Amino acid sequence: MANQRRLADNANRYEAGHTGVPRKGSALLQGIAICGRCGRHMSLRYTGPNGDYPVYCCRFDRDQRGGALCQEVRALPVDALVERLLLDALVPDQIAIAIAAMGQLEEESRQLERQWTLRRERARYEAERARRQYDAVEPENRLVARSLERTWEEKLRDVDAIEEEHARWRSQEPLGNGAADRAELQALGENLPRIWHAVTTAAADRKRILRFVVREVVLDQRRAQGQVWLKIVWQTGATSEHCLQRRVHTYRDYIDLERLRRRITELNNAGKMDKEIAASLNQEGFVAARGWAFKGENVWLLRTRWKIPTTKINGGSANPMRWPDGTFSIQGVAVELGITSQTVFDYLAHGHLAGRQLTKGQPWQIDLSDEQIDRLRARLRRTKRSRKEAS
Ligand SMILES: [Zn+2]
Repeated sequence: MANQRRLADNANRYEAGHTGVPRKGSALLQGIAICGRCGRHMSLRYTGPNGDYPVYCCRFDRDQRGGALCQEVRALPVDALVERLLLDALVPDQIAIAIAAMGQLEEESRQLERQWTLRRERARYEAERARRQYDAVEPENRLVARSLERTWEEKLRDVDAIEEEHARWRSQEPLGNGAADRAELQALGENLPRIWHAVTTAAADRKRILRFVVREVVLDQRRAQGQVWLKIVWQTGATSEHCLQRRVHTYRDYIDLERLRRRITELNNAGKMDKEIAASLNQEGFVAARGWAFKGENVWLLRTRWKIPTTKINGGSANPMRWPDGTFSIQGVAVELGITSQTVFDYLAHGHLAGRQLTKGQPWQIDLSDEQIDRLRARLRRTKRSRKEAS
Protein backbone atom coordinates (compact mmCIF):
# COMPACT_ATOMS: atom_id res chain seq x y z
CA MET A 1 0.00 0.00 0.00
CA ALA A 2 2.65 2.46 1.13
CA ASN A 3 4.69 1.48 -1.87
CA GLN A 4 1.85 2.15 -4.26
CA ARG A 5 1.26 5.50 -2.66
CA ARG A 6 4.91 6.37 -3.03
CA LEU A 7 4.84 5.37 -6.69
CA ALA A 8 1.77 7.52 -7.26
CA ASP A 9 3.46 10.44 -5.51
CA ASN A 10 6.51 10.02 -7.66
CA ALA A 11 4.40 9.99 -10.78
CA ASN A 12 2.62 13.18 -9.67
CA ARG A 13 5.86 14.92 -8.84
CA TYR A 14 7.28 13.89 -12.14
CA GLU A 15 4.27 15.22 -14.01
CA ALA A 16 4.15 18.45 -12.02
CA GLY A 17 7.79 19.20 -12.69
CA HIS A 18 7.64 18.37 -16.33
CA THR A 19 5.24 20.87 -17.75
CA GLY A 20 6.84 20.98 -21.18
CA VAL A 21 5.50 17.61 -22.17
CA PRO A 22 1.81 17.36 -23.01
CA ARG A 23 -0.33 15.30 -20.73
CA LYS A 24 -3.71 13.69 -21.08
CA GLY A 25 -6.74 15.92 -20.85
CA SER A 26 -8.69 18.21 -23.05
CA ALA A 27 -7.19 21.64 -22.32
CA LEU A 28 -4.88 22.53 -25.17
CA LEU A 29 -2.79 25.12 -23.37
CA GLN A 30 -2.12 23.06 -20.27
CA GLY A 31 1.44 23.79 -19.17
CA ILE A 32 1.98 26.74 -21.52
CA ALA A 33 -0.72 29.13 -20.32
CA ILE A 34 0.84 32.15 -18.62
CA CYS A 35 -1.04 34.62 -16.45
CA GLY A 36 -0.99 38.00 -18.17
CA ARG A 37 -1.53 39.79 -14.88
CA CYS A 38 1.28 38.38 -12.77
CA GLY A 39 3.37 36.37 -15.24
CA ARG A 40 3.01 33.04 -13.47
CA HIS A 41 2.18 29.69 -15.03
CA MET A 42 -1.53 29.02 -14.90
CA SER A 43 -2.77 25.71 -13.62
CA LEU A 44 -5.75 23.81 -14.86
CA ARG A 45 -8.85 22.79 -13.01
CA TYR A 46 -11.98 21.06 -14.17
CA THR A 47 -15.42 22.38 -13.32
CA GLY A 48 -19.01 21.65 -14.29
CA PRO A 49 -21.39 18.90 -13.21
CA ASN A 50 -19.30 16.22 -14.90
CA GLY A 51 -15.98 17.80 -14.01
CA ASP A 52 -15.02 18.01 -17.67
CA TYR A 53 -15.14 21.74 -18.19
CA PRO A 54 -11.58 23.06 -18.06
CA VAL A 55 -10.56 26.42 -16.63
CA TYR A 56 -7.08 27.95 -16.65
CA CYS A 57 -6.47 29.53 -13.30
CA CYS A 58 -3.86 31.63 -11.63
CA ARG A 59 -4.13 30.86 -7.95
CA PHE A 60 -1.27 33.09 -6.94
CA ASP A 61 -3.07 35.64 -4.80
CA ARG A 62 -5.19 33.09 -3.01
CA ASP A 63 -2.35 30.68 -2.28
CA GLN A 64 0.27 33.24 -1.29
CA ARG A 65 -1.69 35.93 0.46
CA GLY A 66 -5.02 34.31 1.16
CA GLY A 67 -6.62 36.86 -1.16
CA ALA A 68 -8.93 36.49 -4.10
CA LEU A 69 -7.90 34.51 -7.17
CA CYS A 70 -5.65 36.38 -9.57
CA GLN A 71 -7.81 35.31 -12.52
CA GLU A 72 -9.53 32.33 -14.05
CA VAL A 73 -10.08 31.90 -17.76
CA ARG A 74 -12.46 29.44 -19.33
CA ALA A 75 -10.38 27.14 -21.50
CA LEU A 76 -12.62 26.04 -24.36
CA PRO A 77 -13.13 29.35 -26.20
CA VAL A 78 -9.44 30.23 -25.79
CA ASP A 79 -8.44 26.78 -27.03
CA ALA A 80 -10.72 27.13 -30.03
CA LEU A 81 -9.15 30.46 -31.01
CA VAL A 82 -5.59 29.22 -30.55
CA GLU A 83 -6.45 26.14 -32.57
CA ARG A 84 -7.76 28.28 -35.41
CA LEU A 85 -4.69 30.53 -35.35
CA LEU A 86 -2.43 27.51 -35.26
CA LEU A 87 -4.04 25.94 -38.30
CA ASP A 88 -3.65 29.26 -40.13
CA ALA A 89 -0.06 29.68 -39.04
CA LEU A 90 1.34 26.24 -39.62
CA VAL A 91 2.99 26.92 -42.93
CA PRO A 92 6.27 25.31 -44.13
CA ASP A 93 8.48 27.84 -42.22
CA GLN A 94 6.88 26.92 -38.99
CA ILE A 95 7.20 23.24 -39.77
CA ALA A 96 10.97 23.61 -40.12
CA ILE A 97 11.14 25.31 -36.73
CA ALA A 98 8.90 22.68 -35.26
CA ILE A 99 11.24 19.94 -36.43
CA ALA A 100 14.15 21.72 -34.75
CA ALA A 101 12.15 22.10 -31.55
CA MET A 102 11.38 18.43 -31.76
CA GLY A 103 15.09 17.66 -31.71
CA GLN A 104 15.30 19.45 -28.37
CA LEU A 105 12.40 17.57 -26.92
CA GLU A 106 13.94 14.31 -28.11
CA GLU A 107 17.20 15.15 -26.36
CA GLU A 108 15.30 15.88 -23.17
CA SER A 109 13.50 12.60 -23.51
CA ARG A 110 16.76 10.71 -24.09
CA GLN A 111 18.28 12.19 -20.92
CA LEU A 112 15.31 11.10 -18.88
CA GLU A 113 15.52 7.64 -20.44
CA ARG A 114 19.18 7.41 -19.34
CA GLN A 115 18.15 8.22 -15.76
CA TRP A 116 15.56 5.50 -15.93
CA THR A 117 18.12 3.01 -17.22
CA LEU A 118 20.35 3.72 -14.21
CA ARG A 119 17.48 3.26 -11.76
CA ARG A 120 16.40 0.02 -13.39
CA GLU A 121 19.95 -1.37 -13.43
CA ARG A 122 20.48 -0.52 -9.78
CA ALA A 123 17.24 -2.23 -8.76
CA ARG A 124 18.19 -5.37 -10.67
CA TYR A 125 21.66 -5.30 -9.16
CA GLU A 126 20.21 -5.04 -5.63
CA ALA A 127 17.92 -7.98 -6.30
CA GLU A 128 20.77 -10.06 -7.65
CA ARG A 129 22.93 -9.25 -4.63
CA ALA A 130 20.11 -10.26 -2.27
CA ARG A 131 19.75 -13.54 -4.18
CA ARG A 132 23.47 -14.26 -3.82
CA GLN A 133 23.37 -13.54 -0.09
CA TYR A 134 20.47 -15.92 0.31
CA ASP A 135 22.27 -18.47 -1.82
CA ALA A 136 25.38 -18.24 0.35
CA VAL A 137 23.75 -18.95 3.72
CA GLU A 138 23.57 -22.53 5.04
CA PRO A 139 19.94 -23.76 4.95
CA GLU A 140 20.12 -25.02 8.58
CA ASN A 141 20.69 -21.45 9.69
CA ARG A 142 16.96 -20.93 9.32
CA LEU A 143 16.52 -17.60 11.04
CA VAL A 144 19.10 -15.89 8.87
CA ALA A 145 17.90 -17.71 5.73
CA ARG A 146 14.33 -16.54 6.31
CA SER A 147 15.45 -12.95 6.84
CA LEU A 148 17.55 -13.00 3.67
CA GLU A 149 14.72 -14.56 1.74
CA ARG A 150 12.46 -11.68 2.79
CA THR A 151 15.06 -9.16 1.69
CA TRP A 152 15.36 -10.89 -1.67
CA GLU A 153 11.60 -10.84 -2.13
CA GLU A 154 11.53 -7.15 -1.28
CA LYS A 155 14.19 -6.36 -3.86
CA LEU A 156 12.31 -8.30 -6.50
CA ARG A 157 9.19 -6.29 -5.71
CA ASP A 158 11.25 -3.11 -6.10
CA VAL A 159 12.34 -4.27 -9.55
CA ASP A 160 8.73 -4.86 -10.54
CA ALA A 161 7.63 -1.50 -9.21
CA ILE A 162 10.34 0.38 -11.06
CA GLU A 163 9.63 -1.48 -14.29
CA GLU A 164 5.98 -0.62 -13.92
CA GLU A 165 6.74 3.02 -13.21
CA HIS A 166 9.05 3.16 -16.18
CA ALA A 167 6.46 1.63 -18.49
CA ARG A 168 3.96 4.22 -17.32
CA TRP A 169 6.41 7.05 -17.95
CA ARG A 170 7.25 5.55 -21.33
CA SER A 171 3.59 5.47 -22.33
CA GLN A 172 3.16 9.12 -21.40
CA GLU A 173 6.33 10.24 -23.08
CA PRO A 174 5.18 11.23 -26.55
CA LEU A 175 8.53 11.21 -28.26
CA GLY A 176 8.96 7.51 -28.65
CA ASN A 177 10.18 7.47 -32.18
CA GLY A 178 11.91 10.57 -33.42
CA ALA A 179 12.21 9.61 -37.05
CA ALA A 180 8.59 8.61 -37.32
CA ASP A 181 7.57 11.80 -35.54
CA ARG A 182 9.57 13.93 -37.92
CA ALA A 183 8.04 12.20 -40.91
CA GLU A 184 4.66 12.70 -39.34
CA LEU A 185 5.37 16.37 -38.82
CA GLN A 186 6.48 16.77 -42.39
CA ALA A 187 3.24 15.19 -43.51
CA LEU A 188 1.47 17.45 -41.08
CA GLY A 189 2.50 20.55 -42.95
CA GLU A 190 0.84 19.12 -45.99
CA ASN A 191 -2.49 18.48 -44.41
CA LEU A 192 -2.62 19.76 -40.90
CA PRO A 193 -6.33 20.46 -40.60
CA ARG A 194 -7.20 16.92 -41.63
CA ILE A 195 -4.75 15.38 -39.17
CA TRP A 196 -5.70 17.83 -36.43
CA HIS A 197 -9.37 16.99 -36.70
CA ALA A 198 -8.98 13.24 -37.32
CA VAL A 199 -10.77 11.08 -34.78
CA THR A 200 -7.57 9.09 -34.33
CA THR A 201 -5.62 12.19 -33.27
CA ALA A 202 -5.66 12.21 -29.47
CA ALA A 203 -5.76 15.32 -27.30
CA ALA A 204 -2.16 14.64 -26.29
CA ASP A 205 -1.10 14.63 -29.95
CA ARG A 206 -2.75 17.98 -30.54
CA LYS A 207 -0.95 19.47 -27.57
CA ARG A 208 2.28 18.02 -28.87
CA ILE A 209 1.76 19.55 -32.29
CA LEU A 210 0.90 22.87 -30.68
CA ARG A 211 4.07 22.90 -28.57
CA PHE A 212 6.21 22.46 -31.64
CA VAL A 213 4.97 25.80 -32.85
CA VAL A 214 3.83 27.74 -29.78
CA ARG A 215 6.08 28.43 -26.80
CA GLU A 216 3.47 29.96 -24.52
CA VAL A 217 0.16 31.77 -24.48
CA VAL A 218 -0.34 34.74 -22.17
CA LEU A 219 -3.92 35.21 -20.98
CA ASP A 220 -5.56 38.24 -19.42
CA GLN A 221 -9.27 38.60 -19.08
CA ARG A 222 -9.29 41.74 -16.96
CA ARG A 223 -7.55 43.96 -19.44
CA ALA A 224 -10.74 44.72 -21.39
CA GLN A 225 -14.30 44.35 -20.21
CA GLY A 226 -16.01 41.25 -21.50
CA GLN A 227 -12.98 40.09 -23.44
CA VAL A 228 -10.07 37.73 -23.04
CA TRP A 229 -6.84 39.22 -24.30
CA LEU A 230 -4.21 36.74 -25.37
CA LYS A 231 -0.70 36.89 -26.65
CA ILE A 232 0.80 33.93 -28.45
CA VAL A 233 4.56 33.55 -28.18
CA TRP A 234 5.49 31.41 -31.17
CA GLN A 235 8.53 29.17 -31.14
CA THR A 236 10.11 31.56 -33.64
CA GLY A 237 10.10 34.21 -30.93
CA ALA A 238 7.47 36.18 -32.79
CA THR A 239 4.38 37.20 -30.86
CA SER A 240 0.84 37.96 -31.88
CA GLU A 241 -1.98 39.49 -29.86
CA HIS A 242 -5.64 38.58 -30.08
CA CYS A 243 -8.93 39.32 -28.39
CA LEU A 244 -11.77 37.01 -27.69
CA GLN A 245 -15.32 37.91 -26.77
CA ARG A 246 -15.82 36.39 -23.36
CA ARG A 247 -18.63 33.94 -22.84
CA VAL A 248 -20.47 35.13 -19.82
CA HIS A 249 -21.94 33.07 -17.04
CA THR A 250 -25.61 33.83 -17.28
CA TYR A 251 -28.04 34.52 -20.03
CA ARG A 252 -28.69 37.92 -18.48
CA ASP A 253 -25.17 38.99 -19.36
CA TYR A 254 -25.46 37.82 -22.89
CA ILE A 255 -24.09 40.59 -25.04
CA ASP A 256 -26.66 40.06 -27.76
CA LEU A 257 -29.48 39.24 -25.46
CA GLU A 258 -32.03 41.38 -27.22
CA ARG A 259 -31.15 39.92 -30.59
CA LEU A 260 -31.46 36.44 -29.13
CA ARG A 261 -34.85 37.19 -27.60
CA ARG A 262 -36.12 38.58 -30.88
CA ARG A 263 -34.90 35.59 -32.86
CA ILE A 264 -36.43 33.08 -30.47
CA THR A 265 -39.71 34.96 -30.62
CA GLU A 266 -39.61 34.90 -34.43
CA LEU A 267 -38.78 31.22 -34.67
CA ASN A 268 -41.41 30.42 -32.06
CA ASN A 269 -44.01 32.40 -33.98
CA ALA A 270 -43.05 30.51 -37.10
CA GLY A 271 -44.31 27.44 -35.26
CA LYS A 272 -40.94 25.84 -34.59
CA MET A 273 -40.45 23.55 -31.63
CA ASP A 274 -37.80 24.33 -29.01
CA LYS A 275 -35.46 21.71 -30.42
CA GLU A 276 -35.76 23.16 -33.92
CA ILE A 277 -35.28 26.67 -32.57
CA ALA A 278 -32.10 25.50 -30.83
CA ALA A 279 -30.82 23.99 -34.07
CA SER A 280 -31.53 27.22 -35.97
CA LEU A 281 -29.80 29.32 -33.30
CA ASN A 282 -26.72 27.11 -33.43
CA GLN A 283 -26.70 27.32 -37.19
CA GLU A 284 -26.95 31.10 -37.06
CA GLY A 285 -23.98 31.33 -34.71
CA PHE A 286 -25.75 32.12 -31.46
CA VAL A 287 -23.96 30.73 -28.43
CA ALA A 288 -25.62 29.69 -25.19
CA ALA A 289 -24.26 30.42 -21.75
CA ARG A 290 -20.77 29.03 -21.07
CA GLY A 291 -20.04 28.79 -24.76
CA TRP A 292 -22.15 25.70 -25.22
CA ALA A 293 -24.45 24.97 -28.12
CA PHE A 294 -28.16 25.52 -27.61
CA LYS A 295 -30.39 22.62 -26.76
CA GLY A 296 -34.17 22.44 -26.62
CA GLU A 297 -34.07 22.83 -22.84
CA ASN A 298 -32.13 26.12 -23.07
CA VAL A 299 -34.74 27.50 -25.44
CA TRP A 300 -37.55 26.32 -23.20
CA LEU A 301 -35.90 27.99 -20.21
CA LEU A 302 -35.48 31.27 -22.09
CA ARG A 303 -39.04 31.18 -23.42
CA THR A 304 -40.31 30.63 -19.91
CA ARG A 305 -38.18 33.44 -18.51
CA TRP A 306 -39.19 35.82 -21.28
CA LYS A 307 -42.81 34.67 -21.21
CA ILE A 308 -42.85 33.71 -24.88
CA PRO A 309 -45.74 31.24 -24.96
CA THR A 310 -45.50 28.15 -27.09
CA THR A 311 -47.50 28.21 -30.29
CA LYS A 312 -48.43 24.59 -29.93
CA ILE A 313 -52.11 23.68 -30.26
CA ASN A 314 -52.60 22.42 -26.74
CA GLY A 315 -51.75 25.86 -25.47
CA GLY A 316 -54.89 26.99 -27.30
CA SER A 317 -55.02 30.58 -26.15
CA ALA A 318 -51.52 31.12 -27.48
CA ASN A 319 -52.50 30.67 -31.12
CA PRO A 320 -53.57 33.76 -33.03
CA MET A 321 -56.75 33.60 -35.14
CA ARG A 322 -54.66 33.98 -38.27
CA TRP A 323 -50.99 33.45 -38.95
CA PRO A 324 -48.84 36.15 -40.53
CA ASP A 325 -49.14 34.43 -43.93
CA GLY A 326 -52.93 34.75 -43.85
CA THR A 327 -53.70 31.12 -43.02
CA PHE A 328 -56.02 30.35 -40.10
CA SER A 329 -55.28 28.56 -36.86
CA ILE A 330 -57.61 25.88 -35.58
CA GLN A 331 -59.06 28.44 -33.18
CA GLY A 332 -59.40 30.95 -36.01
CA VAL A 333 -61.41 28.54 -38.16
CA ALA A 334 -63.56 27.54 -35.17
CA VAL A 335 -64.48 31.17 -34.46
CA GLU A 336 -64.96 32.04 -38.13
CA LEU A 337 -67.37 29.16 -38.70
CA GLY A 338 -68.93 29.04 -35.24
CA ILE A 339 -67.90 25.45 -34.61
CA THR A 340 -65.75 23.69 -32.02
CA SER A 341 -62.05 22.98 -32.47
CA GLN A 342 -62.92 19.29 -32.55
CA THR A 343 -65.17 19.86 -35.57
CA VAL A 344 -62.32 21.70 -37.29
CA PHE A 345 -60.15 18.63 -36.77
CA ASP A 346 -62.95 16.45 -38.19
CA TYR A 347 -63.19 18.72 -41.24
CA LEU A 348 -59.43 18.45 -41.75
CA ALA A 349 -59.63 14.67 -41.41
CA HIS A 350 -62.45 14.47 -43.97
CA GLY A 351 -60.89 16.85 -46.43
CA HIS A 352 -63.46 19.64 -46.02
CA LEU A 353 -60.55 21.84 -45.03
CA ALA A 354 -56.99 21.91 -46.31
CA GLY A 355 -54.18 22.63 -43.87
CA ARG A 356 -50.70 21.66 -42.86
CA GLN A 357 -48.39 21.37 -39.88
CA LEU A 358 -44.66 22.01 -39.99
CA THR A 359 -44.25 18.89 -37.94
CA LYS A 360 -46.49 16.71 -35.85
CA GLY A 361 -47.58 18.52 -32.70
CA GLN A 362 -47.15 21.92 -34.27
CA PRO A 363 -49.95 24.42 -34.95
CA TRP A 364 -52.09 23.91 -38.01
CA GLN A 365 -52.08 26.46 -40.76
CA ILE A 366 -55.37 26.21 -42.55
CA ASP A 367 -56.22 27.73 -45.92
CA LEU A 368 -59.63 29.31 -45.80
CA SER A 369 -60.86 31.58 -48.57
CA ASP A 370 -63.98 33.76 -48.25
CA GLU A 371 -65.70 31.54 -50.77
CA GLN A 372 -64.87 28.49 -48.64
CA ILE A 373 -66.20 30.23 -45.55
CA ASP A 374 -69.53 30.91 -47.29
CA ARG A 375 -69.74 27.34 -48.56
CA LEU A 376 -68.95 25.81 -45.18
CA ARG A 377 -71.36 28.13 -43.35
CA ALA A 378 -74.10 27.14 -45.80
CA ARG A 379 -73.25 23.50 -45.26
CA LEU A 380 -73.45 23.98 -41.47
CA ARG A 381 -76.88 25.64 -41.79
CA ARG A 382 -78.08 22.70 -43.88
CA THR A 383 -76.80 20.19 -41.34
CA LYS A 384 -78.49 22.05 -38.47
CA ARG A 385 -81.75 22.22 -40.41
CA SER A 386 -81.72 18.55 -41.30
CA ARG A 387 -80.98 17.65 -37.67
CA LYS A 388 -83.94 19.76 -36.55
CA GLU A 389 -86.22 18.15 -39.15
CA ALA A 390 -85.09 14.68 -38.15
CA SER A 391 -85.90 15.25 -34.47
ZN1 LIG B 1 -1.80 35.75 -12.00
